[in-house]
Amino acid sequence: MTIKTTSVEKKTKGFSDVIDITNDVEAFIKKCDVMNGIATVFIPGSTGAVTTVEYEPGLKKDIPEFVEKILPRDAYYHHNETWNDGNGFSHMRSALFGPSLTVPFENGKLTLGTWQQIALLDFDARGRNRKVIIQVMGE
Ligand code: ZN
Repeated sequence: MTIKTTSVEKKTKGFSDVIDITNDVEAFIKKCDVMNGIATVFIPGSTGAVTTVEYEPGLKKDIPEFVEKILPRDAYYHHNETWNDGNGFSHMRSALFGPSLTVPFENGKLTLGTWQQIALLDFDARGRNRKVIIQVMGE
């Protein structure tokens, strides 16, 4: 059994930016020299999230529009009174999607569907340099 961890840096624009990180995860599995197991992707930050989407231009607009409907940027959030950082909407959106994802891999390949990619979502109110943790457990 092998357990290996790495991190990758991603430049984001914030405001529900959707970034395909599938290749980073696949590349790290190859590096780990394991055939079967699971890859966990985790974002250490409470205004980001990790999920799967079909990474295409329509959904890159649908996700920001969806979160704006259910958690509008200009709604009232108690968090904004705590720090005055004005990104209560970012934290709520992040909590909704969640910070991590686990994907099984078989024969060195992720078991994702054909139209399914691993996506980093950045909900912060500014662009960021995001660190994403990838951990592979397998043999
Ligand atoms: Zn905040």
